[in-house]
Amino acid sequence: MSPSTGKKSSESLDPASTVYKLVVEQGRSGILQSGLWKALNLTSRDGSRLALRLEKRGMVRREKVLDEGRWTYKLTPARLPVQVKAIEDAPCLTCPVENQCSVVGTISSSSCTLISDWVLTEFRAVNNPIQSQNRTDQLTT
Ligand code: SF4
Repeated sequence: MSPSTGKKSSESLDPASTVYKLVVEQGRSGILQSGLWKALNLTSRDGSRLALRLEKRGMVRREKVLDEGRWTYKLTPARLPVQVKAIEDAPCLTCPVENQCSVVGTISSSSCTLISDWVLTEFRAVNNPIQSQNRTDQLTT
């Protein structure tokens, strides 16, 4: 955690969040799994588990592609945040039940109040940053 901003640096993110951040940073062009695992110094087995977990949560898409004669997967973000910085405060990154969360499970982003509250807060901050800051100041004083 950065003492000046209160935000997590990428070095302090858990492995799944680090993978997601790198996938988002590639944008719509995506990134090959093999390149990602090399960049993060992961085994293909551990990396594939993380990718499957992110796919199960509806955060990334995995597309089978042929690269230099070998089949691999390309990972692309299911949705792109307005800015990569915008995901730093996402509740999923520190969620204690994220390993149970999936689009078809009882714990799901479609019914999660943490994610809906976060989206509303981010929306207000983008659309009315002064009013949002005043509201935050009122809540913290
Ligand atoms: S339960 Fe909510 S905060 Fe946790 S991983 Fe799922 S959507 Fe994210």
